[in-house]
Amino acid sequence: MTKEQFSLFESAGPSYEQVAGEPVSGATFLPGINPEEGYPDITRMSELKSLAEQCNRCPLRGGCSQVVFGDGLEDADIMLVGEGPGQSEDEIGLPFVGRAGQLLDRILEATGISRPQVYITNVVKCRPPGNRLPNPNEIAACRGYLEAQIRLVKPRIMICLGALATQTLVDGKAKITQVRGKWFVRSGIMIMPTFHPAALLRNESLKRPVWEDFKQIRQEIANKGLKA
Ligand code: URA
Repeated sequence: MTKEQFSLFESAGPSYEQVAGEPVSGATFLPGINPEEGYPDITRMSELKSLAEQCNRCPLRGGCSQVVFGDGLEDADIMLVGEGPGQSEDEIGLPFVGRAGQLLDRILEATGISRPQVYITNVVKCRPPGNRLPNPNEIAACRGYLEAQIRLVKPRIMICLGALATQTLVDGKAKITQVRGKWFVRSGIMIMPTFHPAALLRNESLKRPVWEDFKQIRQEIANKGLKA
């Protein structure tokens, strides 16, 4: 990695990884996004939510029953980002309420994090048909909402649940197996990628590394005295 690439990210001390990504302008958080994509004039989460509820920027809205915008404390210190709503989320209208969500709740509880004290959302707000991964056009159509959510919540720590969230937040080329458990920092926000809870349901051996990742998160919450 060149010195120039390092300088794209703020330094947070020797224990924090810095990654190469697309240049991030001071006004935006997500790599590669233009400031005007992130709804810069919106100052309230409720306004942003109603915009998302009326959104038809990609075909996903036509195939889901409702927009799953986000859940939790609007000024949380900890923000978690998943991929997109599944069937249960689409039915209930909240992120992470199905089997993966129940496992996430147990992980949060074991870490000493109270779910109502964090903010949880997804990269895309509408359920992709058959729970497939959202495609790049759908992600691009939706990422302005995520950008604005990050701007409004102003989290101190962001947890990327799985490869898609990691690639959207950290670096499009990131490999989850290589970056999980490492801290990245941008614009003063610490970012921790970890495996998606749905991956843990398929592969029990991922539980241990995820637990190690959440122990690091717990430590950082304690060090900084964050709300959790
Ligand atoms: N998986 C996700 O990525 N998000 C949800 O909200 C539920 C399952």
